[in-house]
Amino acid sequence: MEVNYEKLGLKVGLEIHQQLDTSTKLFCNCKPQLFKGEPEITFLRRLRPTQSELGQVDPAAYFEFQKGLKILYEANSETSCLVEMDEEPPHPLNMEAVETVLTVALMMNAELVDEIHVMRKTVIDGSNTTGFQRTCIIAMNGEIKVGEKTVPIQTICLEEDAARKTGREGNLIRYRIDRLGIPLIEVTTAPVIHSPKEAEETALTIGKILRATGKVKRGLGTIRQDLNISIENGALIEIKGVQELELLPLVVKYEVQRQLNLIKISEELKKIGVKEEDVKEEFFDVTEVFRNTNCKVIRKALSQNKIVLALKLPKFKGFLKRELVPNFRLGTEMADYARFWGKVGGIFHTDELPAYGITKEEVEALRRKVKTENQDAIVLVADSPENAKDALKAVAERARQAIRGVPEETRAANPDGTTRYMRPRPGAARMYPETDIPPIKITKELLEKIKTALPELPEQKLKRLIEKYGLNMKLANQIMDSEYAELFEIIVKETKVQPTTVAVFLTETMKALKREGVQIEKVSKDKIMEMFRLLGKGELFKEAMQEIFVWLSKHEKESVQNAIKALNLKALSKEELEKIINDTIRSNEKIVKENKAKAFGLIMGIVMKEVRGKADASTVSQLIRQKLSEHP
Ligand SMILES: [Zn+2]
Repeated sequence: MEVNYEKLGLKVGLEIHQQLDTSTKLFCNCKPQLFKGEPEITFLRRLRPTQSELGQVDPAAYFEFQKGLKILYEANSETSCLVEMDEEPPHPLNMEAVETVLTVALMMNAELVDEIHVMRKTVIDGSNTTGFQRTCIIAMNGEIKVGEKTVPIQTICLEEDAARKTGREGNLIRYRIDRLGIPLIEVTTAPVIHSPKEAEETALTIGKILRATGKVKRGLGTIRQDLNISIENGALIEIKGVQELELLPLVVKYEVQRQLNLIKISEELKKIGVKEEDVKEEFFDVTEVFRNTNCKVIRKALSQNKIVLALKLPKFKGFLKRELVPNFRLGTEMADYARFWGKVGGIFHTDELPAYGITKEEVEALRRKVKTENQDAIVLVADSPENAKDALKAVAERARQAIRGVPEETRAANPDGTTRYMRPRPGAARMYPETDIPPIKITKELLEKIKTALPELPEQKLKRLIEKYGLNMKLANQIMDSEYAELFEIIVKETKVQPTTVAVFLTETMKALKREGVQIEKVSKDKIMEMFRLLGKGELFKEAMQEIFVWLSKHEKESVQNAIKALNLKALSKEELEKIINDTIRSNEKIVKENKAKAFGLIMGIVMKEVRGKADASTVSQLIRQKLSEHP
């Protein structure tokens, strides 16, 4: 179905977070890296949420919910210190990070602040050991060109990344604080994006500008895109954590689809006369109905002395199985609410029963017990009385919202482009000044330094790569997006190797090798440079480059010369090559005498097999022709 996004009043704003590639973290000297394996240090904290950050749906419940949580932080000494553990005040701002953000701000024509003030933004999920995230506005009111359109950039901020969640067991959440304090740039656009495609193009343009600084990290997990999306008669939805750019258009498309379907459901519910007050928080203990059930989930719950609690949703029959986006129904949305607010594993509802071991007879008994009419739906939860009640309360609230339309929410992105309920939308974040860090004046000298080294804008650079080096559009684009963009120009300048040869190796060959599992990051840029230097001098051949590169990736400490020796890929001298050709002609004397034209192909085949990677084909063929013509 063709969707007219403009007519729907679609408005999307993007918030792009990208980790900066600095040598230390934002507020200490730790390495801005993640660690693998077992932590050296762990410490436990309890959440202390503040009243100002309560949610909208049920503030009291949200408060209680957060209060019960314990956080186990994991750390190692290389990637965190007392600053991340909140045992020592933060050090002054990392100026390397400040300079990168200033560079981006100037490239986006934004107005810089006079003085940088670090602020605290309350965070209540435990992802910051301090209970707040440190952030500072560096510039405002910028703009970027996306095709023909000008997209306003509202703010450009520098902030610290949060700790990363690594697990949860009941009320205990695990976070690793290695990521905490890695500098992030945050670029926020105005909500002027009106289609899924435009969302992708805008993010792509911002990404190119960020990479042009040469100071941002690359790879999965280093960039996170948040969106706010609304359509007319729908609601403003925040979507957090889209990790892949390619996913953006799909996320927007699905969110529009979800809101349209929720609006339709609301209209239909109203039409058949369902009212919010009809959805009562009246729960039925239906444990007895399932005393001998074959449903594994319920049987397990009952064996742990839990109960089965039921909620009646009047006239909701058929609505819970309505698909909002692929494989995602209104019932799924209710289950997400139940999981979040009631900490339960999930729900059952009559739109999907009998199933999961629950029989027709049990459903009939359930209906009698809850006294439902045929057009009603029933939702079941098997858990402790307290959790089950909280879960069904949330389901009842979600059902009432379904009558109203689309509820405002913060949702989290799934890897397939769909989203799931994350939490109620918090009010505008409250900011407090960070008194531990002195403000930084943006001096004339600092600005001059940055202005003189300002990178080219991506579109200018693309044009230059095409004109100066004769690259085609595709290669030029690939080189520009590659982390070898700078190296490419140095190699071409210093080695006289054909630019296209260099570009193809640094983009397509590298990509192919990576796909085959070669750890390309193990080969330093210096070694790549050295390989091309030898190629330029004729001491190495194009055909040998790949093999040498792979060997170097497995022998991190070895030199290019040693790789050539180990693989026996040193270019042959003319004399050596001549000897091989003469020997080959001699051992095929008979054919050479009979038919020189036929002999050429044969000799060429044999010689090339022997000298592959050590001589280039055109020299070999030329020499063979010469030797054959001299042959009696
Ligand atoms: Zn540290």
